[in-house]
Amino acid sequence: MSIKDFTDKVVLVTGAGSGIGREAARIFADQGALVYLADVGAHGLAETKDLIAELGGKVQAARVDVSVESEVAALVKRIAKEAGRLDVAFNNAGVSGQAHRIEDYPTADFDRVIAINLRSVFLGMKHELPLLKRSGGGAIVNTASVAALTGPGGMSAYAASKHGVHGLTRVAAMENAAHGVRVNALAPGWTETPMVVTASAQNPGFAQLATTAIPAKRGAHPNEIAAAAVWLASDAASYVMGQMLVVDGGMTIGGFEL
Ligand code: NAD
Repeated sequence: MSIKDFTDKVVLVTGAGSGIGREAARIFADQGALVYLADVGAHGLAETKDLIAELGGKVQAARVDVSVESEVAALVKRIAKEAGRLDVAFNNAGVSGQAHRIEDYPTADFDRVIAINLRSVFLGMKHELPLLKRSGGGAIVNTASVAALTGPGGMSAYAASKHGVHGLTRVAAMENAAHGVRVNALAPGWTETPMVVTASAQNPGFAQLATTAIPAKRGAHPNEIAAAAVWLASDAASYVMGQMLVVDGGMTIGGFEL
């Protein structure tokens, strides 16, 4: 059993045009997988595709809005037609949304965050699961967040969406464990990606989190999060089902030092 070996595996990564998704796609390709990159942003998608191709990896890219069912269905159909199978799906695309207290949160913005972060995971799994099962089983990893365990003020839509990802993951794990598909979630803490850079620009207090609220006294490099996603998807995690792996530099320990 090797964590490293994804030779001849077909892996789908959403949100692959940036941050955690880009890094995970690079690792999967490095370990021998044919990686399908999906992202709504054409520029980031092309950059990730070029990066992996330059490193000698097998890669395909698709511009997809993960909150739109017809686009998700078409992507999975394309993978089935071209690659004939799917072994791993990393449903990772997401947005943070703006920070507002609930009474001020624009309803359309709330709906948008829920659609991109939560509905997308439902749609992804709905269309990926039949192909994963036809391929003889596999693994799904859904990106949640430490916000699936906490109540960050101002982030109602984000926290609700990520609590939802945790719940959906557990249900999917229950429904599919006996069919050879393992489903787990990943809960990153503060990770140095464009998402955090944008959030920090909008809210200066956010940037101080890394040095105050995180025992590790730093944010994660995207690689430290992506490595955990790859492990969850690998055969080394063959008995891990319906769990949410928290990778947060100790942010949610919730203790204190005397
Ligand atoms: P990022 O902004 O670097 O990357 C997110 C990617 O998702 C982008 O390429 C973006 O274009 C894509 N995306 C956004 N909406 C999309 C849509 N509708 N369809 C397809 N693609 C879409 O952010 P990241 O930090 O790499 O975030 C990846 C995941 O990790 C997200 O689900 C995020 O909520 C989660 N997360 C991040 C942090 C952090 O601190 N960065 C912490 C916890 C959880």
